[in-house]
Amino acid sequence: MIRLPSASSLDRAIECLPSNGLLGVESIDPGEAAAKGTTVHAFLAAVLSGSKTRDEALEDVALEDPGRALCEAIDLEQLPTGGQIEPAFAWDVATGKGRIIGHDIGRDYEAHGADRSREFVGSADFAGLRADGKAIVLDWKTGWGTGKAKDSWQLRGLGLFAAETLGATSAIVGHVYVRDEKPVFDLVELDEMELGAIRAELRALRSRMAALMASAEPVTLVREGAHCTYCPAFKSCPAKTGLVRSMHTDLDVREPFAGALTPANAAEVVKTLLRFEDVAKRMWKELEVIAAEAPIDLGDGRVMKLAPGRSADAIVNAGAALGCLESVCDTQTMNAAMTTTKTAIEEAARAWAVANDKPIGKTQAAVMNLARETKAIEKRPGAMSVRVVKS
Ligand code: SF4
Repeated sequence: MIRLPSASSLDRAIECLPSNGLLGVESIDPGEAAAKGTTVHAFLAAVLSGSKTRDEALEDVALEDPGRALCEAIDLEQLPTGGQIEPAFAWDVATGKGRIIGHDIGRDYEAHGADRSREFVGSADFAGLRADGKAIVLDWKTGWGTGKAKDSWQLRGLGLFAAETLGATSAIVGHVYVRDEKPVFDLVELDEMELGAIRAELRALRSRMAALMASAEPVTLVREGAHCTYCPAFKSCPAKTGLVRSMHTDLDVREPFAGALTPANAAEVVKTLLRFEDVAKRMWKELEVIAAEAPIDLGDGRVMKLAPGRSADAIVNAGAALGCLESVCDTQTMNAAMTTTKTAIEEAARAWAVANDKPIGKTQAAVMNLARETKAIEKRPGAMSVRVVKS
């Protein structure tokens, strides 16, 4: 049975048809970056919906929460009000009609009445109808790693769902980067013609899914790319599992590697290694989960399991340790050893703010601004290195 993808999966769903539930499914740990995003999202939801004041919402964020400093810093005056907070849309592919099935429902679309066999679903952080009759859909971002709004199928889908729910013929959609005090907007307008093209693409996607599902052919037509990162079918994907299977033989066959590497085949080798790295990173994560539950015996005297790291000396009194260096050597040697990092400075400021009941974000910003003014910190260009970058 077809299960149409949600808006957040549309980029992958359109690029790689078999990833839409035709292979195995599993979930992925969102990690700390997501935890920070979740805190900020909850904070913004509480304040922008008017259910809490800024101070009340801040009281709900633990002092040690990694998103706390960001919540304190965001200039709420710059953000829109009056819309719906975290509306969940369902858009019927046949009738072209949209509806709101709830607010802040996570991924629980079916439990709120969505029929995923015929409805595309998706949640926006903020959506509404502007005074000029255009629908607006905004997505808060706490990192910079997102692509441009104009390239996002998630925003395109949500723009269509919102427009057809709220009775608009065009939509403004975009990312709002809430990393610093001043939010940065990356907006794009979808006019009537563009909304029509999105509607046609989503209808075609459902037809392609139905055709593939009805086909007796094995699922091999996967298309790899950046969209693989959060693919729920990663572990069962023929491209990834085939790559893992081939790694051993390929590396055996190609040893010694340097002998086979020439300027003529360098591009192919780089692309192959990048694929290996992506797959290896993801497979290590999967293996960590398996090994944490039950040790994996490698059969050669080694075992992958939960084990304590190597013990190492930890400096518990930096001043005293530096004093020892000065006693044995000299002051110049001691000064040379006095190094720190921007993160360490920010963490120290954060710890002080928590201990002294001061705003974390403002304290960190004050320290960093003073450090820049006094030239204690300065921007330095990154060192040249050979890397893979956009041409
Ligand atoms: S991991 Fe495989 S199935 Fe998933 S998007 Fe990538 S190529 Fe497609």
